[in-house]
Amino acid sequence: MYCTNCGSQNPDDAAYCFKCGNKLMASATAPSQVQTPSPPPASQNPAQGKSAVLAAFLNLFFGLGYVYLGYSKVLGVPTIVFVVLTLVVYILIGVATLGIVTLIVAILLAVDGYEKGKGKKGYISTQ
Ligand SMILES: [Zn+2]
Repeated sequence: MYCTNCGSQNPDDAAYCFKCGNKLMASATAPSQVQTPSPPPASQNPAQGKSAVLAAFLNLFFGLGYVYLGYSKVLGVPTIVFVVLTLVVYILIGVATLGIVTLIVAILLAVDGYEKGKGKKGYISTQ
């Protein structure tokens, strides 16, 4: 390598110029101050950017909208379990109440799915 101070040639592994004593390795081995860009903050709401109308529509079917919205848990249970439980409740209570309760629950879920699709909190606990 060549000395940056006096221009004389030095061995490649020399730490200092043999002629003027200029420090040679400093510039060559100085760690590059590359700033690693910090990752964007993780979105608290996985539903962001999803279609609220589609979420509401899917939630009419046993809360399938929560699957679409990307939630892993609904009311503290895994989303898929919630969907299955809702399906069972729909069938059992639906038969007993001629579908009235089922309809009400479906509408409640649809409204909640719509709210969450809009980026709001809604009223059903989801993660
Ligand atoms: Zn030198």
